[in-house]
Amino acid sequence: MRDRRRRLLYPAIRFAVLLLAIGATAAGAPRVFSRLHPADGFALAIALVLFTLLARINVPLTARGSFYRRRSAEPGRITLELPLILTVVSIYGPFVAAALTLVAYPFALTPEGGSRFLRRVFEGAPQAILWLFAGTLHAELYRGPVTLSIPSYLAFLAFYTLAIYMFLYGIWTPLRMIATHVRLRRFWHNLSRDTRLLGFLLLLTSWGYVCTVIWLHAGIAIGLASLAPLPFLAYTLRGLHEAQVELHRLRLARDAVQAMLGAGDPIPQMNSLLASLHTPTARETLQIFAAITPDETRLAPLATIGHQPTVEQVELCSRALAELSRSDSPAVTVRNSSYVVFADAARSSDDELLGVLIAHRPLTTSQLLQRKRFAQAAADLAPLLRDFRSIAATQSAAALDALTGLPNRRTIMQLLRDRVDNVAFGNPCAVLLLDIDRFKMINDMLGHPAGDRALRVVAGTIARSIRSHDRAGRIGGEEFLVLMPETNSETAVAVGERLRGAIANAEIRHANGDQVTASIGVAVASISDTIESLLARADHALYQAKRQGRNRVVETVQ
Ligand code: GH3
Ligand code: MG
Ligand code: MG
Repeated sequence: MRDRRRRLLYPAIRFAVLLLAIGATAAGAPRVFSRLHPADGFALAIALVLFTLLARINVPLTARGSFYRRRSAEPGRITLELPLILTVVSIYGPFVAAALTLVAYPFALTPEGGSRFLRRVFEGAPQAILWLFAGTLHAELYRGPVTLSIPSYLAFLAFYTLAIYMFLYGIWTPLRMIATHVRLRRFWHNLSRDTRLLGFLLLLTSWGYVCTVIWLHAGIAIGLASLAPLPFLAYTLRGLHEAQVELHRLRLARDAVQAMLGAGDPIPQMNSLLASLHTPTARETLQIFAAITPDETRLAPLATIGHQPTVEQVELCSRALAELSRSDSPAVTVRNSSYVVFADAARSSDDELLGVLIAHRPLTTSQLLQRKRFAQAAADLAPLLRDFRSIAATQSAAALDALTGLPNRRTIMQLLRDRVDNVAFGNPCAVLLLDIDRFKMINDMLGHPAGDRALRVVAGTIARSIRSHDRAGRIGGEEFLVLMPETNSETAVAVGERLRGAIANAEIRHANGDQVTASIGVAVASISDTIESLLARADHALYQAKRQGRNRVVETVQ
């Protein structure tokens, strides 16, 4: 029942306000028009175009959170048009300002970005009334044009700020209350909390004063020119506003993902944290580096968003990481002639470096997000990195071979399976199967512990001799597998030879003093290979190496 009354009351009041605004404006118009010169007509036409343009570009960004909470106070559109309308009120009086508002307002955008003509027709009416009242009072109180002096400026500022606030508290919010069910107290509370609105109004009122003085003293053309930057400002602010909305959306998405994941795997949480910080238009790359074990000084990349960093960027990034690990500062910035890298440390409560949040950006892009957002994100990252560390510790215990510390059979086979599945033309992949020669003799002559030690020395030698993107694992008693992505047969044989040499020179000997050696079988995966066919070929090659006298590398060709 109350709702129905409301639904009828609001349009009725709005309609009454509109009639009042049109009637009052029309009543004063003939007097004004008779005094206008052709130059004034021209200036007002330009002002109208400017006003309409502003209303189209402008977003009401003065309302705190108005985009996200539909029922919060949105203090109308008294934003960037203000300097323009104040100049018009001061120079041409209230009727012209009201007429301008009534004509331009219907073309404004709604806060949601659409343009609902009728809705805006009604929303312009209360504002036209504001300019009628304020303008009339202005003419009565000042009796004449504005002068350039501090008292005149302060009076102007105080008068219009007060008038606008009275309008917001006394007309606009009560009208909105009838339409939206939101209690007036809540509207007023929001209004008085919004210091940005006050700051913005003071700034724009000052602009209006300056433009009025310029218009009066330097003429119409320069007066209009002093208002010309307004649409550019509106355009820039709108861009920033859109970026903010986008960011807000991403944060909501991140929160949803986090809620779904609960306190589970921290890696997706890190990815969504990066996503919430990432600004695609800034051509930036964001990365999270982590010290995976407590005593580790080397930081490994865990998550990346954006372009893959170039060699130049990687080098800059290493510099930033090294600087952060050495010092206990919260953040460092390094740059060269084309890139800048921001690094923010994620530290534990006792100041241990758990990881680093890195932002790479070309020097030419502007920085949209404040640095302190990154510092905050790095702080959010610290607990995730700690979780990651404990998960990595248990996972790696299950994935590694207890004796040698290399990946165990299951792990290296999984890695191999992933690789073989992804073999493509021009992207070969090689495996080495390595078996220690006459290993049984070590066990038999020197005892099992000596055998174990030999296994550890061989594993350490292999781990040190392979390249950083190769992986080695222990797949059986004294057999090892080395997986080499993007490696052709020539390189594979060369790596095999290097390994064989390194083992033959390691400090492990048989009971009779002979150096311990290993035989190696090499196979290169082709597109038709399965993991079984590849391993069968490598095994065959190893068998050939043993047959040919051991301590050698043999490759089977398909
Ligand atoms: P070949 O040159 O033909 O490879 O001769 P080999 O003596 O190495 O022959 P084989 O591969 O049959 O020997 C494997 C031996 O490795 C058998 C087993 O006792 C020993 N072994 C397997 N696992 C371990 C381990 O974890 N520790 C120790 N100490 N020995 C192991
Ligand atoms: Mg063997
Ligand atoms: Mg053997």
